[in-house]
Amino acid sequence: MQVHPLIKSGVYLTAHVTGLSRALGFRYRGRGVIFAFHSIVDDDAFCPDHALRCTVGKLEWILRQLRLQQLDFVTLDETVERLNAPSARPFVAFTFDDGFADNLTKALPVMEKFAAPFTVYVPTGMIRRDIDAWWFGIVELVRSHNELKLPTLGRLRCPDRASKQRVYSIIESAIHDNFELLPAIREVLVAANIQIPALVDREALTERQIRTFSQHPLVTIGGHTTSHRNLARAPAEIVRAEMGDNRKYLEELTGTPVTHNAYPFGHAGACGDREAAISRAVGFRTAVTTRPGTLFPEHRDHLHALPRVCLTWEENAATLQCKLNGLSRAINSRFGHPVAHM
Ligand SMILES: [Zn+2]
Repeated sequence: MQVHPLIKSGVYLTAHVTGLSRALGFRYRGRGVIFAFHSIVDDDAFCPDHALRCTVGKLEWILRQLRLQQLDFVTLDETVERLNAPSARPFVAFTFDDGFADNLTKALPVMEKFAAPFTVYVPTGMIRRDIDAWWFGIVELVRSHNELKLPTLGRLRCPDRASKQRVYSIIESAIHDNFELLPAIREVLVAANIQIPALVDREALTERQIRTFSQHPLVTIGGHTTSHRNLARAPAEIVRAEMGDNRKYLEELTGTPVTHNAYPFGHAGACGDREAAISRAVGFRTAVTTRPGTLFPEHRDHLHALPRVCLTWEENAATLQCKLNGLSRAINSRFGHPVAHM
């Protein structure tokens, strides 16, 4: 179940002003955090898939806030070292999923300003333009219509920006809850003449850009499977091929070893212990999920199930502080064990 963003930000604000977030931080704030972004857009951009986007201005604001808190900005390799070093200073690592071209054109200049290293997790299909990015199709569908009539979901009105964001979230989370919905929604996309490869082409890095990117001293290129499918729903040999082929493709493209991996979607319905074991067997040093949580020394034993904290353009002082304090893990685990893994 998805919590409505307004309710969620209300929870963060209340936890922040009452001091609850700080109190929980004693238990849920670990040594460090791996932050997850996707696309970085101009400050005045409008995107129905706002949970995948952060603006340039907000990215810069986030980095400034983290710097003010004297957190070290580290690579994923350094993250592993720090989990093993009890006296290490608190740290954050930055990751960007899916291979958006704006990671190079818009995020990199900000990351350079703060000398912040980061990892870009790239699915092969995004670069070759054959990824089944149905979510881009839904963005286009919502963007280009004032009202939709969808199988199972019924009539959805989306005449303005706020309703487009809401309707996109409704459709996307309905598909994640029940992938059986997808074929019928695909038919709607086809009928609306929405071409997913053209949408991918508008968003994704090219092979040449990845080569340039991989040469940059702040940048690590990481694996994100070939087709960005839900791995938990695929047979083991397909999962192995998805991870292994993607790793080989990126290594040949960049001439650099690819040792870090991210599971597509990353939630409990999309990856688990089997995927962690395969990721290790394929040769990755670490792999990240999107289970929310901060990092503890115990994660040394779960390097292929590292939690992350997702950031979007909706962050403010309250949400950022709550996320650093591990509030999302506290809520997700119903105030259970602070160490998130599979
Ligand atoms: Zn992804």
